[in-house]
Amino acid sequence: MRIELAESYGFCFGVKRAIKIAEENQNSATYGPLIHNSKEIERLNRDFSVGLSEDHKTFKSGDRAVIRTHGIPKNELEELMERKVEVVDATCPYVTKPQQICQEMSERGYDIVIFGDDAHPEIKGVKSYAKDGALVVTSPKDLEDVKLKDKIALVAQTTRRVEDYLEVASYLIPRHKEVRVFNTICNATFDNQEAVRKLSKRADVMIIIGGKNSSNTKQLYNIAKDNCDDSYLIEDESELDFFWFENKELCGISAGASTPDWIIQKVIDSIECRVNAL
Ligand code: SF4
Repeated sequence: MRIELAESYGFCFGVKRAIKIAEENQNSATYGPLIHNSKEIERLNRDFSVGLSEDHKTFKSGDRAVIRTHGIPKNELEELMERKVEVVDATCPYVTKPQQICQEMSERGYDIVIFGDDAHPEIKGVKSYAKDGALVVTSPKDLEDVKLKDKIALVAQTTRRVEDYLEVASYLIPRHKEVRVFNTICNATFDNQEAVRKLSKRADVMIIIGGKNSSNTKQLYNIAKDNCDDSYLIEDESELDFFWFENKELCGISAGASTPDWIIQKVIDSIECRVNAL
């Protein structure tokens, strides 16, 4: 069996940047998981004494708080500043962008619609920048029976599929006088998605490596599954089941934007070792 990596996979620019920032700020703590990968968070703690706090209230004056890649709500950032916590912002610039759009467009009188998952930390943060709140939707269905102004600004969670975003935009455009659609889907996600789409059309089995709570990893898995029935989502090599590879010729591999290279390599080594031994 051959193993082939997708043309684009794994760590994106935003995650690489956040990890570098964390490594440069030893003896600090991140507010919320810096990235959606528990193994990498353990490594930062072990090797760089970068802890993790799930509650911004635990930071005291003089503490150093590294803001996670997905950003935090505006009021929490303000509270940290007021308490004189040293804030190191590792929010990905692609997440800062929709935050700014929400703030600016809501100040200009636009209703804000966000295409994304209301419960996701990124969206909680982005939404908080809209002056009078924002409507978060996952499909055009959520827009039925909702009364909105004539002027609407639409942004998307960075990890969403373009095709799904277009459905929401297509629903809004004929129903309102002015709809400003901002492309806030990040290229890293798009590149990884396109590469997985291409590879999964040829592969007999697809392995997607990443955190089970990572939205972009799940998107990759869904795309793979659309094209290749034998697609599996795993966090590391311990979850491999070697029956998946029986009678398969091509195993495609991809990984979410929060998956470090060392985990990907361990999975590959493990598959090669076991499959070749069969
Ligand atoms: S996937 Fe995109 S938005 Fe998310 S951290 Fe990476 S570069 Fe930033």
